[in-house]
Order: sequence, then C-alpha cells, then structure tokens
Amino acid sequence: QWSEAQLERELVLAAPRASCAGVSRAIDTVERLLREHGAPIYVRRQIVHNAHVVADLEARGAIFVEELDEVPDGATVVFSAHGVSPAVREEARARGLDAIDATCPLVAKVHSEARRYAQAGLDIVLVGHEEHEEVEGTLGEAPEHIQVIASIDEVDALQVADPSRIAYLTQTTLAVDETADVVDALRDRFPELVGPRTDDICYATQNRQDGVRALAETCDRILVVGSSNSSNSRRLVEVAQRAGCPAMLIDHAADLPPEFLAGARRIGITAGASAPERLVQDLVSALEGLGRVTVSEHEVTVEDVRFKPPRRRPREH
Ligand code: SF4
Repeated sequence: QWSEAQLERELVLAAPRASCAGVSRAIDTVERLLREHGAPIYVRRQIVHNAHVVADLEARGAIFVEELDEVPDGATVVFSAHGVSPAVREEARARGLDAIDATCPLVAKVHSEARRYAQAGLDIVLVGHEEHEEVEGTLGEAPEHIQVIASIDEVDALQVADPSRIAYLTQTTLAVDETADVVDALRDRFPELVGPRTDDICYATQNRQDGVRALAETCDRILVVGSSNSSNSRRLVEVAQRAGCPAMLIDHAADLPPEFLAGARRIGITAGASAPERLVQDLVSALEGLGRVTVSEHEVTVEDVRFKPPRRRPREH
C-alpha cells in the first residue's frame, strides 16, 4: 500500500490557461493609473472576477464601488472588463468624472452587434446569465429589444413580435457545447434567425475549454484555479466534469482539500481567464510540498492575442 507521500504525481498544466488579453489589459489599466495619478483610483465593480486581483489592487490604492454614486466628483473611475451599459457611461459623462473604459474589446463587439440588430428592428435573444455584469451591460444597449435566456428549456417560452425577425447574441464566457445546443434550438424555432458569424464566445474561453477537455481525457482529477463568481472558470469545471473527470474550482492553493486528490496520480491544472498565472504557480508549489511530482504542459493551441490600452477621452466639464 502506497501512502500519499510516496505516490509520485504528474501535474499536467493546460495551455493556454489563466489571464486572457482582456483581463491583462484591464488590470494594466488600473495599475498604470495608480502609477501615474497615485491613489485613489475608483473602479466600478470588480475589475475582473478574481478575488486575489481585487485584493492586490485594493492594497495599492484602488477603491472598488458598485455604482457611480459612490465615486466623488472629479475622481478617476475605471469601468471593468465586463462592460457597462450606455446609462452608466452617460452618468459618468454628466457628472464630469474622468472615466476610463476597460471593457474588453470582445465584449464591446457584442455591444455593437446589439445596437446594430436593434437599429434594424430585430428582436434579440441574448444567451447568457441574467445576473452577470456582462449581460447587464449588453442588455443596457437595447433593453426594449433584448430577452435573456440561459438554457435550451427557455427557448419555447420566448414571446416575439415577428418570428422571421429574430437575432441572437451570446455572453462571451459560456460553455461552447451548451451554447451550440441553445443556438440550434433557437434556429429550429426561428429558421430565419440571424447572428454573429460564429457565436460571441471569445477565443480565450474557447481555448481554455479545449485545453481542459484534453486534460480530462488523461487525468484522474482536474483543479481549476479561479474565483466562484468567474463565469468562464466555472464553465471549465463543468466542461471537465461532462468529459468524465472529477474537477474542482479553487480560489487559491490554500483552499485545496487534500482528500480531493486521494489516490490521484495524474492531476490536470488550469485557470480561468480572470485568474493570474501566479496563482497557478502557487498551486504547483503547494502540490510539490505534498510529495514527489513531475510537471509538464499540454498545449492545445498557441495564444498570442493582445489588445491596445483603452483610449482616454477628454473630460467634458
Ligand atoms: Fe475578453 Fe474573453 Fe477575456 Fe472576457 S474572457 S475579458 S471576453 S478575452
């Protein structure tokens, strides 16, 4: 009988994993403003959905608020990577706030699609989670035109004015397989459905799901580093589980319950697009502390996307 300490484990890191281009850009924006202006810098909502990133920026002088009424007049405020509705942008403009928009360009693309379909007079079905900030922002682009559904079960109950004039959009961080099923069901009900050329699920979400699916084929357990409010991290756990591999979301190595790994020889590790790589390295170090390990990487694709920093608009007051 081998004890856990004698068991040599293989750690297989998914690639790509951890922070995507939109998340890096949003964090860099707050860091740059802190360097250039000094504290405090206000940020509306969590800049990205990761508790450690938020705590780190808070310690350096960022102040996270839920709404703009918590931001003092004349202050600098950053909008998070998830995007904001036009009403929020207008409120910042009317109050003369120094607003910097760190909305990921791929979320901004969904907003512009929403405007385009609404201007064409189409009813829009937005596939996503109503309570998620990204959906809140997209919905705000055309509230009278958009209905949100989260699953295939809601397709039949949709009420539309003209079934031949329907468009769909999706949240960027959904599960690729489930979303394809929902879009197929929409197309069955509305054969003239229009939509983006592919869905709006972003490259980073797609690549991390491909990576975790590949790990699920050969690993005994999968650990996904990410916070519980991170949509794309939670989807990674579900994708692994659907592929038949026990998987668990952990915010940090310190939260790892050792019993989850009992008897596991090959452990897959990935991280959601909002989780920084240093948290993955903390987890690897923690596992190295539990016994002998070898570490390798399984790369499903090379990711080299980068976005330019957000432009700063002159204040109107
Ligand atoms: Fe942008 Fe995708 Fe990253 Fe979200 S997960 S910030 S949409 S690149």
